Amino acid sequence: MGKREEGLGFVRLAHRLRTLGFALGMLPVAAVLHQQQAPAWLWLLLFANCLLWPHLAWLHAVRAARPVQHELFNLVADSAMLGAWVAAMRFNLLPCVMLVSIMTMDRISAGGWRLATRALLLQAVACALAAWATGFAWQPVSDMFVIVACVPMMTIYPIWLSTVTFRLGHRIRQQNRLLEELNRTDALTGLANRAHWLDVAAREMHRYLRHQRPASLILLDIDGFKLANDRHGHATGDALLQDLATVLRESLRSVDTAGRLGGDEFGAVLPETNLASACEVAERIRERVERLGRAEDSHVQSCTVSLGVVEAGPRHRDVEAWIKQADIALYRAKSQGRNRVCATAPETAAH
Ligand code: GH3
Ligand code: MG
Repeated sequence: MGKREEGLGFVRLAHRLRTLGFALGMLPVAAVLHQQQAPAWLWLLLFANCLLWPHLAWLHAVRAARPVQHELFNLVADSAMLGAWVAAMRFNLLPCVMLVSIMTMDRISAGGWRLATRALLLQAVACALAAWATGFAWQPVSDMFVIVACVPMMTIYPIWLSTVTFRLGHRIRQQNRLLEELNRTDALTGLANRAHWLDVAAREMHRYLRHQRPASLILLDIDGFKLANDRHGHATGDALLQDLATVLRESLRSVDTAGRLGGDEFGAVLPETNLASACEVAERIRERVERLGRAEDSHVQSCTVSLGVVEAGPRHRDVEAWIKQADIALYRAKSQGRNRVCATAPETAAH
């Protein structure tokens, strides 16, 4: 979504809230004007302000080059208008306090205290000017008729406003979760990215050091991937990396974590798994990749991987030592002819 689209979303929301707020707010003001037997021009002003202004404000904002800025200006203008109505109501206590506090609440939720302070200042100025124009009339007592006219605004608007802010908060929480997920994921394969995979491996190492729970690592690298890229093109190379990710997903349990460490190198963390079981998993992966290369719809003529397996042992003091051992096993697999699994037993794990 573009920045302007986002801004228009804010304007639309403000329009809906303003239409409802001004319609509900009109009732207590009308009740006070009725008691004061206000002149017709003041009634006309009230209707125009409450029924027309929300739509004029919306029209101006959507046509503006910077809709959000214009909408913030509209929000301050609302407050100034209310300031004038406070004086016109001769400071009738309940509607004045209720309308000013609900509008301030609304300004805080739209633009924080910065906007609310600006709005309150302008409201005070507009109120002072209107009070001066009307001779500082003062009738603060609210009778039952005015109290009843306040009830819809007092109940409906805050409930609606809190529903809207809850929904917005919920959407932001969802987007944050999505961002976190993207931050942990390798874009091409959908597996864990390097940083997240290293975190998982470090957590598993910590669990081993604290509780001596078995855990194994598998590192694997595609054999001759550079050649496949050169022969079939980069897009085919990418498709092969994605196929390999699928093989890993299908070969591992849900508690295992597969990740792309970079280029054509992948890793898997296998909790509660000893060396023998991890080697079986690695062998299964190797066979599946070999079959993948032979399949009729394969992207390449042949594809194999080399794998290094290591179980966490007493002499691994940290995750780096553990990964280094898996790396050594992987390069042994490469140097012994590729397309094979090489393992390092835990008791011989450290140098
Ligand atoms: P070896 O058997 O020794 O592993 O040989 P190799 O050719 O696979 O050598 P190496 O693992 O060093 O090659 C990695 C290649 O992966 C080099 C680079 O061009 C390619 N590569 C790295 N990232 C990507 C990617 O995102 N997509 C594609 N298609 N290729 C990539
Ligand atoms: Mg390779």
